[in-house]
Amino acid sequence: MYSAIENKNMRIIILCVFIFLLNSCSTDPILPWFSEPENPCLELPDTASTSSASYLAKNIFVIVIDGARWSETWGYPSQALIPYQSQQLKPQAVFCSSFINNGLTKTISGHAAITTGCYEELENTGDEYPSRPSLLQAWLAKTDKPKEAAWVITSKDKLYVLGDCKDQNWQGKFLPSLDCGISGAGSGYREDTATVGSLKNIITQYHPAFAIVNFRNPDYSAHQGSWDGYINGIKSTDSLTWVIINYIEADAAYTGKTAYFITNDHGRHLNEVADGFVSHGDDCNGCRKISLLAIGPDFKENDSTATQYSHVNLSATISEILGLGRAENSSKVMWDIFK
Ligand SMILES: [Zn+2]
Ligand SMILES: [Zn+2]
Repeated sequence: MYSAIENKNMRIIILCVFIFLLNSCSTDPILPWFSEPENPCLELPDTASTSSASYLAKNIFVIVIDGARWSETWGYPSQALIPYQSQQLKPQAVFCSSFINNGLTKTISGHAAITTGCYEELENTGDEYPSRPSLLQAWLAKTDKPKEAAWVITSKDKLYVLGDCKDQNWQGKFLPSLDCGISGAGSGYREDTATVGSLKNIITQYHPAFAIVNFRNPDYSAHQGSWDGYINGIKSTDSLTWVIINYIEADAAYTGKTAYFITNDHGRHLNEVADGFVSHGDDCNGCRKISLLAIGPDFKENDSTATQYSHVNLSATISEILGLGRAENSSKVMWDIFK
């Protein structure tokens, strides 16, 4: 009798511990592989190669929503703060649920990892160009297209640095067109709605085939310490992303032949780290864990992958679609998002 009661108590204790562990797992996105980052850069594209890509997507748009934390986006109950991405776009997309920033979790380093295929600790002020040429430059070099075919369109003026690099062989060459901040470098950030207006004009006037777009929110509002502003920034950029994709897809030059990648440069601190949602920049899992939604004619639909990917894998995948892929980079391409 005594041992039966003891057994029962023991079972209750084990159950309680199990429930506790389950709860702590669901609120804290701990992913153990974050702790040992492996960040080999892509090999530079071989722009002299005559091989060309045979993908249906002939255009690529990368939309970067600045500094959204997983716990308020895809990790939020019912994904209620991002209805356009979760309800409208996800059914047409592949959702990458284990996507991270595997380098410095700041704006310029996060964006530059996509455009250069390499994590690098860059000044976050806009005073330093990446070391390596961007895919925009490599693609312009390979295709010999005019600069109006490739664009950097950003709410944050400092992201003009994505357009050029410090590599002597590339500096000042094959430069993409820039549309950054209020009126270029040093002019200050502009509203995300202004960025959408500008992007619409560029689409109509130049029909670019390759562009990276940045929204300053929710990062901008979070840095002001405003929780409401941060949440509104998540909602508004979700809505603006939907507006952009519909606008582009409605243009016959793009319909059915355009790939879209919706992602983040970095997340934000977990609540228990430093000042929580207000800041970012370390290697806590709140800063590391971000998301990627990939939509395009070559990709699966209404699917997801839990393969562990970072910005470098996105860069390798964009290179592949643009015909800049190299055999050495093949292992980094996100092959499982393709049909
Ligand atoms: Zn920030
Ligand atoms: Zn952090």
